[in-house]
Amino acid sequence: MRRSSSYPRPVSFGVAGPLEVLLVSPPLRAEQRYGRLAAAGMYMPPMGLTVLAASLRKAGHSVALLDCEALGLNHQEAKEQCRRSAPRILGLTAVTMSVQSAADLAALLKPLLPNTVFVLGGPHLSAAPEETLTRYPQFDVGVIGEGEETLLELVRRVLCEESITDLEGTIVWIGDTLRRNPNRALLEDIDTIPFPAWDLLPELQTHYRPSAFGFRKLPCMSVLTSRGCPGRCSFCSQGVWTDRYREHSAGYVLKMIRELYHHYGIRDLCIYDGTFGVKRSRLIELCELLIAERWDLVFSCNLRVGMADEKMLRLLKRAGCWGVAYGIESGSSKILEHLRKDITPAMIQRAITLTARAGLISKGYLMVGTPAETEETLAETLAFISTLDLDLLTVNSFTPFPGTLDWERADGFGTFDKDWSRLNQHSYAFVPHGLTRERLEYYVRLITRTFYVRPRVMINFARLMLNPYHLPLIYSGLTSFASFVGRSHRDL
Ligand code: SF4
Repeated sequence: MRRSSSYPRPVSFGVAGPLEVLLVSPPLRAEQRYGRLAAAGMYMPPMGLTVLAASLRKAGHSVALLDCEALGLNHQEAKEQCRRSAPRILGLTAVTMSVQSAADLAALLKPLLPNTVFVLGGPHLSAAPEETLTRYPQFDVGVIGEGEETLLELVRRVLCEESITDLEGTIVWIGDTLRRNPNRALLEDIDTIPFPAWDLLPELQTHYRPSAFGFRKLPCMSVLTSRGCPGRCSFCSQGVWTDRYREHSAGYVLKMIRELYHHYGIRDLCIYDGTFGVKRSRLIELCELLIAERWDLVFSCNLRVGMADEKMLRLLKRAGCWGVAYGIESGSSKILEHLRKDITPAMIQRAITLTARAGLISKGYLMVGTPAETEETLAETLAFISTLDLDLLTVNSFTPFPGTLDWERADGFGTFDKDWSRLNQHSYAFVPHGLTRERLEYYVRLITRTFYVRPRVMINFARLMLNPYHLPLIYSGLTSFASFVGRSHRDL
């Protein structure tokens, strides 16, 4: 790999500056993230950065966080803020859809901060390290995988003017050559990680919001209680935390929630774990601890269809859970098998029925246009969704992301535009053979409309509208939802 000579290495790692580390979530507009449903979309803190910041601070470093998306900063505004901070190390995080934005910001800053080491981390870099740094040589180093220990060691070495070229868990430019160092082992005990540095973010209650139907009380905040997932879904990238499941103890999670509850006034939690409840004994212990606290607190979580059972769902309900989301993906057995979901339509039916029986709201995530999708499988999904006792449904266009099995095999199943900035869940970057983008758009709207224009779902919405917490967010959500599905009348 050759690096452009226009990006020289930092001239000195030892120049004193006012701030040691600045961690940045790059500018991204809601429309880029959610397309036409931008007004209904959520925005929650960049959790990885808040934990990295807390780890650095615990080690005695001066660290600041800049969440450009939450603050609504464009690149020029973000550039000014970073330039004024003049950090010794500037770390940007990015998913695939935001990596171009992160690179643009780094390119603007690079000539202005010649003594700063530019670091890129996050899911995209972990999935495609060589290609990313080759394409964006303005970054001096990439942190691959779990970042806490790697970043701590990187910061220590930079501040001590030691070489970082052999640092485990990184990919680094040496002159104009890229060097990929060995991966770093995952943390054995993730309870050693400090709680996220929420205090370094902009005001939580005014800068972050859940999705229009993703909460029951306000303020609402996201938390992670585990890392990794043992699932093997073909569309899921596990580049940062891998498929090795590790969890915080129930006691750790309770303390973290206590801090959010008492210090930040949080009353609703989105538990973001890809799969909450992989280890049943911990889930039971945590629920019992929450029941004993008797807080005015509710939460929602993601479960795998195969893990839902009546006893667990009823316990979740008693602990304050109001809703459970499931990755349904498709109503076609053939597609579920192709996606390696290890579930069947019958298992989905059962999980949704049990969830309703436990008095919980159920939400499903569906993908349209997966590899091997056909008119027949789409019709199957449409028919299947109408039979479910489901309360909420999100329908996305399927997108293969770097680091997944589907990224590798997509070309064999359809046409695929690999432009990173188009890799989101509303741009139809992948179109399976035998279908067109227009047909996929049509089905996304048709399934969404068919699902929501049902008496049962409408009654649920009417109930939600009675809750004063919901009115502003639901109004904006319904407005964008109506304009989104309304187009289908003309398109049919
Ligand atoms: S169950 Fe969810 S988090 Fe786990 S691999 Fe599948 S999609 Fe990813």
